[in-house]
Amino acid sequence: MTDPNTDSLVETIGASRGTDYFLMREQLSADETELMMKVRAFGDAEILPVAADYWERGDFPFELLPKLATLGIVGDTMEGYGITPMTAVGQGLVSYELGRIDGSVGTFLGVHVGLAMQSIYLLGSPEQRERWLPDMARLERIGAFALTEPEHGSDSVGLETTARRDGDGWVLRGRKRWPGNATWCDIIVVFARDESDGQVKAFVVEKDDPGYSASKIGGKVALRMVQNADIVLDDVRVGEDRRLQQCDSFADVSKVLMGTRNMVAWASTGHAVAAYEIALTYAQRRTQFGRPIARTQLIQSKLVEMLGDVTAMQLYCIRLGRLIDEGKLSDTMAALAKYFCSVRARHVCRLARDVLGGNGITLDFHVMRHLCDMEALVTYEGTAEMQSLIVGRDITGQSAFV
Ligand SMILES: Cc1cc2nc3c(=O)[nH]c(=O)nc-3n(C[C@H](O)[C@H](O)[C@H](O)COP(=O)(O)OP(=O)(O)OC[C@H]3O[C@@H](n4cnc5c(N)ncnc54)[C@H](O)[C@@H]3O)c2cc1C
Repeated sequence: MTDPNTDSLVETIGASRGTDYFLMREQLSADETELMMKVRAFGDAEILPVAADYWERGDFPFELLPKLATLGIVGDTMEGYGITPMTAVGQGLVSYELGRIDGSVGTFLGVHVGLAMQSIYLLGSPEQRERWLPDMARLERIGAFALTEPEHGSDSVGLETTARRDGDGWVLRGRKRWPGNATWCDIIVVFARDESDGQVKAFVVEKDDPGYSASKIGGKVALRMVQNADIVLDDVRVGEDRRLQQCDSFADVSKVLMGTRNMVAWASTGHAVAAYEIALTYAQRRTQFGRPIARTQLIQSKLVEMLGDVTAMQLYCIRLGRLIDEGKLSDTMAALAKYFCSVRARHVCRLARDVLGGNGITLDFHVMRHLCDMEALVTYEGTAEMQSLIVGRDITGQSAFV
């Protein structure tokens, strides 16, 4: 730190200013507001002080897990299995508040809950749910979700990992790329193509199963705390009891992915609001040419552009959550929300980074961390282009995928 104008900011910057220009909070129930404030307080007190350091080191903050487990935020809108119930808006607010503080912690939870637990909840039998979900809800067993392969990302529908029937069980063979948490988690939901009928099935692999190995993807400059892996499945044997009984085709996988697009929209909005609030605070404190930079038209123009985007995202998200709660959300609506919120949030983070000048690229002021993390959010759960193609097909009736 060399700038006396901004040194004092480092202590407080990143704490929420509660930006809510269109009074979104009036739309929340008392329970939802309480949940949001609980996650906000936890994020400000426990995650924000350590976020930049862990991000720089590329390590996962394991000591946060027991504390996260006590917050009652693990389980989305799932019911039973020791899960604290919440609305889809409540679930979204958890993603929003975690995104506002740190994308890696939010992504860890998104993978564990939205992908791994939801796969078991939506695609497993009642016995399989009982077997895994209660431990996962207590964060005593952590999950990962292995769909993407080195040669199949956007077209994961073409995945090549195979599942061969062998007596009472199955033999899994193939490679996966990118699954978060996969270097250290306990169970991994693996999607593989049944050699006999060509359909995609889901299997629960345990980290110590012979033939399973996961190596960390290094050199990553987004979501650096999340441990993404290259996975090798070298004739991994699992029993029929580890095949998720309700997954019969890729259409079943899509049911899981629809929910996570919703969470990415909320998380993106959290990143954007953080970047906007930091830029606003900075602009009011930073003096150049004898006046705060906030008193310049060009800076105000950027701040208003950011606020406009943030407000639009907030309105998208609250409506998205209510549509889920009313059972009216379509996959194309989720795709549009993911597209809009992730792309605009990246833009907001970039504008905020400009407002901070040189300090904008340091970890001390958090904005660059949010901008880097947004690069991953624009890509995962289906890239912006894929969401665009999904919505484009819906509104024109023409598929432009191939
Ligand atoms: C940080 C991170 C975490 C992740 N976590 C997980 C996880 O937990 N589990 C998991 O299974 N996967 C995970 N993924 C994988 C993620 O879902 C994929 O990266 C994503 O689907 C894109 O696939 P790809 O990277 O192979 O890019 P590609 O599919 O190769 O795409 C490259 C570019 O081509 C574009 N493109 C592709 N096809 C078309 C087309 N028809 N028309 C126009 N443009 C096209 C894409 O939009 C993109 O811009 C993660 C990825 C990241 C970066």
